[in-house]
Amino acid sequence: MGQPFLCWLSLGFKRSLTKTLFLKVTSVQQLLDFDRDAMIEFAQGLGEKPFRATQLFRWIHQRGLQDFEQMSDLAKSLREKLSTAAFVQAMPLISEHTSKDGVIKWLFDVGQGNAIETVYIPESDRATLCISSQAGCAVGCTFCSTGYQGFSRNLTTAEIISQLWFAEHRLRQQKAPGAQDHRVITNVVMMGMGEPLQNYSNLVPALKIMLDDHAYGLSRRRTTVSTSGVVPMIERLGLEAPVALALSLHAPNDALRNELVPLNRKYPIAQVLEACKGYLRYAPRDFVTLEYCLLDGVNDQEVHVNALIDLLRPSKGANYPCKINLIPFNPFKESGLKRSSLAQIKRFSDTLLDAGLVCTVRKTRGEDIDAACGQLAGDIQDRTSISSRRAQGKVIPISPDFS
Ligand code: SAH
Ligand code: SF4
Repeated sequence: MGQPFLCWLSLGFKRSLTKTLFLKVTSVQQLLDFDRDAMIEFAQGLGEKPFRATQLFRWIHQRGLQDFEQMSDLAKSLREKLSTAAFVQAMPLISEHTSKDGVIKWLFDVGQGNAIETVYIPESDRATLCISSQAGCAVGCTFCSTGYQGFSRNLTTAEIISQLWFAEHRLRQQKAPGAQDHRVITNVVMMGMGEPLQNYSNLVPALKIMLDDHAYGLSRRRTTVSTSGVVPMIERLGLEAPVALALSLHAPNDALRNELVPLNRKYPIAQVLEACKGYLRYAPRDFVTLEYCLLDGVNDQEVHVNALIDLLRPSKGANYPCKINLIPFNPFKESGLKRSSLAQIKRFSDTLLDAGLVCTVRKTRGEDIDAACGQLAGDIQDRTSISSRRAQGKVIPISPDFS
């Protein structure tokens, strides 16, 4: 978490015995890594009371400050301690693009040739930030540009939360300069690059910061984790940071889902749906959002929609507690896949509605700047190239005739 503070001690031995010793003296802490409990622990380590940690937390997250000298209600002695023991730093910004429809995409440098993306989506009644959780993604879904790029590494808590920290305070300054309390972002979706539940231990503190009234105070209902179905982590999330849950389903049967979402081979549909249903015991909503990306000729046919209805409306027992969100596929050139036609999307959604299922079609935003769902690719130095992962059978090219 902290950056090791390395001290070179060149010991004055005879030339033949000269040794250079790296000595880990202490750590300088990145304070964006800390949820409030961790901040309290850190403050106590500096000999400070818990309420000082809360003050510090508020300066950082509510006011967007990183310079301890400007935190005027902290004692000078504490500001001095902080200046040597800690820092607050977002990732370096590489670029900012604004689309015709007001969507903003930021590209951040996460080192070693990797970059990740964050997308701001303004609407009339809300403003959503789509946050990345990993540099790349190891799941390798065949219709996802991030998956195509492979996996480099998990983002730290600081790297996850700093996307919100940066966006919120930048937009506040632009929209209402001087109005420090004017909140801009109302919703967060963990739908950027990466599988959030494969970076669980860094995700949870970031979620806690989002929800904390001394930070962003987001409502649990307006904070969504989207997952491809990491079953063991779904229940843990329910216990530790229950927020709204979206499951990337994309197929009505295991044969097809195995190909589209390779994680399905480990956690098949029945297990994943069961885990998500169990999650509702803790969740702020009484339904799971099921995401279904419509791919022309692959998962958008009558046979697929009927199988989906059978899956979610079994003849015996209650309907599955869900809302289906149909996502028109956002194309990228390596996938070889096509978006379903508007007529096909309408047929698919009408059939679901006629069967009594709740279903909406996601409006595609930010397409002109490649900021739509699944188009986020950042710039990943994959440690396992797509070709070698293919050779290992971890990514399977899809053919048009899966059913
Ligand atoms: N890894 C998580 C969250 C990030 S992806 C997950 O898979 O749920 C966010 C959403 O975008 C998922 O539902 C994902 O399936 C969808 N998506 C990925 N690629 C897409 C594409 N090319 N077009 C449309 N949606 C896509
Ligand atoms: Fe990863 Fe989600 Fe993309 Fe699948 S859809 S590759 S899980 S980011």
